[in-house]
Amino acid sequence: NRRIVLASRPQGEPTIENFRLETVSKPTPQAGEVLLRAVYLSLDPYMRGRMNDAKSYAEPVAIDEVMVGATVSQVEASQHPDYQVGDWVLAFGGWQDYCVSNGEGLMHLGANPSMPSYALGIMGMPGFTAYMGLLDIGAPKAGETIVVAAATGPVGATVGQIGKLKGCKVVGVAGGAEKCRHAVEVLGFDACIDHKAADFAEQLAAHCDKGIDVYFENVGGKVFDAVLPLLNTGARVPVCGMISQYNATSLPAGPDRLSLLIGTLLVKRIKMQGFIIFDDYGHRYPEFANEMSKWLANGEIQYREHVVDGLENTTQAFIGLLKGENFGKLVIKLNEP
Ligand code: NDP
Repeated sequence: NRRIVLASRPQGEPTIENFRLETVSKPTPQAGEVLLRAVYLSLDPYMRGRMNDAKSYAEPVAIDEVMVGATVSQVEASQHPDYQVGDWVLAFGGWQDYCVSNGEGLMHLGANPSMPSYALGIMGMPGFTAYMGLLDIGAPKAGETIVVAAATGPVGATVGQIGKLKGCKVVGVAGGAEKCRHAVEVLGFDACIDHKAADFAEQLAAHCDKGIDVYFENVGGKVFDAVLPLLNTGARVPVCGMISQYNATSLPAGPDRLSLLIGTLLVKRIKMQGFIIFDDYGHRYPEFANEMSKWLANGEIQYREHVVDGLENTTQAFIGLLKGENFGKLVIKLNEP
């Protein structure tokens, strides 16, 4: 059983020295347990937060413990009445080949799912996040303007496409010309702006000529700075993530702009609301899964994966995720089915 543990806590950007690849013996399932062999591992931005020894909505990963993460796994041995050898499950197996489970938190994916890895992306946590954050907090109305960054990642791409299905104008923000082209040509966004451009804020303003009604916040930092003056009266801001700050070790320097923010919220009666997807919306997963599977089947939602082979490449891929090196939902293929 190969596994990657947290060797030390990063200061700022994680480095390969913060992780250690180990080989340990394969666990043995006891009565009531299953042995799971991971086929796909999901890499997600929240994992950076788990590397810090800080109070948050979830416990940090302890030093020398396996890095956490969702997996799509197959049952290799079963002493559990609900699982047969060969069954596919969604599990929280972590960065390793094998784990045992007593069934708690597992989700059946059937004996032969057509796209097993989708359970980590468009049909799973990121897709669900986009759906609930946009529709429940953003509450877009036809004709309104939505802005979303990380526009080609699994959350942002889904937010923008659902926005188009609801009749909105959608302006994406992404890193680089290739991602921006993808957002417009494949995902159907009205425009997508490169946040690395020197005149990013001017371009954003030019494309949001009627202001912004829904800003789906994925990144924070300079993207939020450019968005703030464009928000319309009554705008909604689902606060989903702040990836531009995940490696920060202190608050950004510069003048204190908190009163600008609060003053804008007041004068424009803006709703800004954070959410943690499964904590706040877990009970609504079936509603999402039902609607999303129809959209996918009808070709109304496009989904792009970025698959990297091999546990040994996981660390580098994760470091790259925080810098925008992924293009689509980042998934590690750990083992052949
Ligand atoms: P992505 O696959 O989109 O990966 C992150 C992307 O963020 C990168 O590819 C990069 O895209 C962009 N990015 C990184 N640094 C910066 C920066 N400094 N400025 C602007 N963009 C940057 O991730 P996900 O779709 O999985 O997640 C998107 C967001 O949603 C994250 O903030 C995540 O934490 C959050 N999230 C929150 C959940 C919740 O329950 N609240 C649940 C799931 C996700 P590019 O190259 O285009 O800049």
